[in-house]
Amino acid sequence: MNAAARILLLGGTGDALQIARQLGPRHVYSLAGLGRVPQDLACSVRVGGFGGADGLADYLTMEAITLVLDATHPYAAQISNNAARACAATGTCYWALRRPAWQPRIGDDWRSVASWSELVTALAPFKRPLFTSGREPLSHLDEIPPHQHWLVRCLDPHPGNAGAQVLGVRGPFTSEGERALFVAHGIDVIVSKNSGGSATEAKLEVAREMRLPVLMHARPTLPVAEREFTDVAALIDCLLSEKLA
Ligand code: NAP
Repeated sequence: MNAAARILLLGGTGDALQIARQLGPRHVYSLAGLGRVPQDLACSVRVGGFGGADGLADYLTMEAITLVLDATHPYAAQISNNAARACAATGTCYWALRRPAWQPRIGDDWRSVASWSELVTALAPFKRPLFTSGREPLSHLDEIPPHQHWLVRCLDPHPGNAGAQVLGVRGPFTSEGERALFVAHGIDVIVSKNSGGSATEAKLEVAREMRLPVLMHARPTLPVAEREFTDVAALIDCLLSEKLA
């Protein structure tokens, strides 16, 4: 690959935005359309799905993309699988940023859950869960057992209901803030994805300190990329040193 490379950066994460800030005008940053769309980038920005792997393959061909950089969230498995398939079908390079998972430390009480129904079972003994796992709980607000009150923290503003309060806020979060939140709401269990990175890690430190269990959604399996980077700085260094950006 050389300086004529044309990159499609698949994003929707803080890491992806950092990469997008390095890209010149011939490259494209793609967002699903759920969050904020940055207005201050040199590269172009496109918003919305491609129509599955086939639609993405058509897009790669039409736009003469030579490298797909997958910097989507580790739980956004659909778009990663689509990207790997579309790249294989069109002979396009597929690189990925694969954020390492958080690892449990001494004092942690993490319990892995593989599905919503496993989560509901694991939650049964608790009264005041804090959900920090995205919007999924919003579609289950009518199913809250009478002995529970949910605090759901996600990006989407939502009125909640008698059994749930929804905090529509965006990280990063500090240990001080997390401690104050857990105490104010009498939180007795945390629900989390194993997102990795530092922006939302403070909840785990505070859970350890307060001896609160964490119900951790298992990570999905992601496709293997031709090159995988575990941190954003290494990926940006590579783009700059190979004059791809
Ligand atoms: P997903 O289940 O993997 O993808 C669902 C569909 O959304 C894809 O098939 C694709 O539609 C479209 N899509 C996803 N990312 C896209 C992108 N960057 N550009 C264009 N289309 C995209 O994804 P998700 O879990 O709903 O997450 C959606 C977005 O939010 C992702 O970009 C992800 O990086 C970001 N995000 C997700 C999480 C999370 O916990 N899942 C957390 C933080 C940020 P088509 O099939 O029509 O192409």
